[in-house]
Amino acid sequence: MHITVVGSGFVGLVAGACLADFGMQVTCADIDEAKIRQLQSGKVPIYEPGLEELIRRGLAQKRLAFSHDLKKSVQDCLVIFIAVGTEPRPDGRANLDHVKDVSQTIGRYMNDYKVVVIKSTVPVGTAEQVTKWIREAQPQPRDFDVVSNPEFLREGAAVEDFMRPNRVLLGCSNPQALAIIKDIYRPLYLLETPFVISDNRTAELVKYATNAFLAVKISYINEIARLCDRVGSDVHLIAKALGLDGRIGSKFLHPGPGFGGSCLPKDTRAFLKTFEDFGLENHVVQAAVEVNRGQLNEVVQKLVRELGSLRNRKLCLLGLSYKPNTNDVRESPALKMCEMLLKAGARVRAFDPVAIESARAVVRSPKLSFAKTAFDAASGAEATIVATEWNEFRNLDLAKLKSAMAGDVLLDARNVFDPAAAAALGFRYLGVGRAAAVPAGKRVKATAAR
Ligand code: NAD
Repeated sequence: MHITVVGSGFVGLVAGACLADFGMQVTCADIDEAKIRQLQSGKVPIYEPGLEELIRRGLAQKRLAFSHDLKKSVQDCLVIFIAVGTEPRPDGRANLDHVKDVSQTIGRYMNDYKVVVIKSTVPVGTAEQVTKWIREAQPQPRDFDVVSNPEFLREGAAVEDFMRPNRVLLGCSNPQALAIIKDIYRPLYLLETPFVISDNRTAELVKYATNAFLAVKISYINEIARLCDRVGSDVHLIAKALGLDGRIGSKFLHPGPGFGGSCLPKDTRAFLKTFEDFGLENHVVQAAVEVNRGQLNEVVQKLVRELGSLRNRKLCLLGLSYKPNTNDVRESPALKMCEMLLKAGARVRAFDPVAIESARAVVRSPKLSFAKTAFDAASGAEATIVATEWNEFRNLDLAKLKSAMAGDVLLDARNVFDPAAAAALGFRYLGVGRAAAVPAGKRVKATAAR
């Protein structure tokens, strides 16, 4: 079966490469000509574990192709996945301009029956809009169906998530279109992946309801961490005990500088707008967004309490991507923290295993420099801040880090270190909600119990 994936970003590339691996004939199309040329020459513009190898295999076996020719890409296939971005508008609603653009392109060029699959995260009612946009652009009426198939992959584990998803959600009321899409996902049936079949509107809502729920869990544990800092308790033990309750589950109960990335901030805001558009409010999600807004400052203030003014302080920042195993810095708490520190007058030397180039394109300051290793970044620093929980930071030689530094403050914004071990090495350890994990005599005032 011939498939075209329009939009060769994180989702489109992963979906295209994985579908080719399922045995489909896939063309990944994009309006970004430079990106397509890069991909055609075998270079993958994003860092995602396993993706480069999958793309190389798809290209070698001639099951995967990249194209800038949208007309041909639309005409040559039976199924078109829409995987373009839906960045937020200034008011928080999802911007559907790219989705509209692709829909009109499909309408203009379609020569036969097509199944149009919406993979982008889109607000409720978009499938109906897409149907209208395609119809209006058709020079003559042609038959097609629209399936809502939201994507749940996590950056950093995207290939694994696409190949072994928790579930596949298909929103469509036409049995013929559903049968075609189920055929594409047949390898997942063999793995006994649960399929949830619904109407388009329900499928559209599930995606937002999922991301909003995850955001709520993160903000919930971050607020508990604030309380732990005040009363002298250990949020990790609370999270562990909570997570062992089967009704709650352990995932997304990790305290830190707040949620970021290209999805949770934009999807929570867009979801709130959907409630508003239907004359409702979602107080729970609203609160999660509110808590998140203050969380980064809550963490940075720990440093300010310890160092006083940050003006001209030499700081080492470890991590720039919004999470490990990706070079994506969109809405990255680490990068926002970097900006906050620079704004406060600090001199920041940063290191990230893969995201330096992405960060350099976004933040420029004479007070910001980039290092080749964590120890190089720490050289002469008064404080080290761990802002992204890369595995290589978890296993960092803390004694070596300390001897590279001029000062002794360690702000562990991701709680990756053992507070007692760090304190034993002479660090003034600042975690998030971990006061009780630091031996009593070594606690710093920022986390001391009242
Ligand atoms: P992205 O910005 O990485 O990629 C979007 C791509 O679409 C770009 O390459 C862009 O050039 C291309 N594009 C834009 N307009 C086009 C057009 N008219 N024709 C052809 N190509 C066009 O975005 P992404 O992170 O892959 O996200 C895509 C969608 O998937 C969004 O709706 C997002 O919310 C959703 N999503 C993302 C993730 C994630 O982790 N990134 C996870 C699940 C869902």
